[in-house]
Amino acid sequence: MAAGLSGSPERNLVPGKYRGVAVAHVDAKLDESSLRRHFLGRETYRRTRFIVVRNGDDTAIIRVRKQSNEPLFAAITDVELVAGTGECVYLHCPDVDTGVPSALAAAAISRVPGMRAAVVQGRYEHVNFIVAPEPIRVTVREVEPPLPPKLLDQAQRVLDVAESLPPMELVADLVRLADLAASRPADRYLVPCRGSGFDPPGAQTSYLDERPPHEPWILVGCERSQQIHEWFYGERADQLDICPRARPAIAGPLLTKCCLLENDIVVEAGQAIVPWGASLEQISAALAALAQAWEPTWAPV
Ligand SMILES: [Zn+2]
Repeated sequence: MAAGLSGSPERNLVPGKYRGVAVAHVDAKLDESSLRRHFLGRETYRRTRFIVVRNGDDTAIIRVRKQSNEPLFAAITDVELVAGTGECVYLHCPDVDTGVPSALAAAAISRVPGMRAAVVQGRYEHVNFIVAPEPIRVTVREVEPPLPPKLLDQAQRVLDVAESLPPMELVADLVRLADLAASRPADRYLVPCRGSGFDPPGAQTSYLDERPPHEPWILVGCERSQQIHEWFYGERADQLDICPRARPAIAGPLLTKCCLLENDIVVEAGQAIVPWGASLEQISAALAALAQAWEPTWAPV
């Protein structure tokens, strides 16, 4: 089995923006020596760095070097097998943007789990590949409702177009308000606003942003809501703290949010925390910070 390319990452190997991936159909066998015999000396386009070689349903990937990158075409001077048949499949996934590493990895893992390399013919019929897909698993800790949970949905939307991030995969870790409330039965709950979608059966619900008359209630909210409660009523409320940041720490990459952050994202100990109303731009920056923390050497090949 071919190792990672010299100087390239051993996993999550993805050609970058100017990917230079060509496709060739041949009658030759797809082992390295046959491929060398077939391609050495042949002219290839200036931009071509990799060739996806197909013979019937068999697929292999080679990296080629040329005499020069100056003329429009140049003779191939070296052939390196990146993935041979038996460890490489060709997938047609018309919805996958093959310029997005996370999308390539997701396609490979869902369609051919365990396969070392996948070539994907995707959106616009563009062809790219991934070798040794092993996405960074990012836990996204978020409150539910709403459905879909906002931060999880936003982060997925960012990953769907993230051309510069290594492959990443989101794992939901949801703080379910209904479960929280069930753990502390009460006649009346106070929640930050109607938009929170919180409506436990058999209980009254009040909304802090409406500044209702004070009642005996349990505040289902974050520290910021608690501060507002204190401002309104002169005392702190009995509280179920929903702030995802206040949950116990986990060991791996974590993306979460905190009520007390207003403008900036915070990255500490390989974990990223964004403000409650984070923009897609901030979430993109947070994911980039996690990638930097957990896969600092990853780069497209
Ligand atoms: Zn918080």
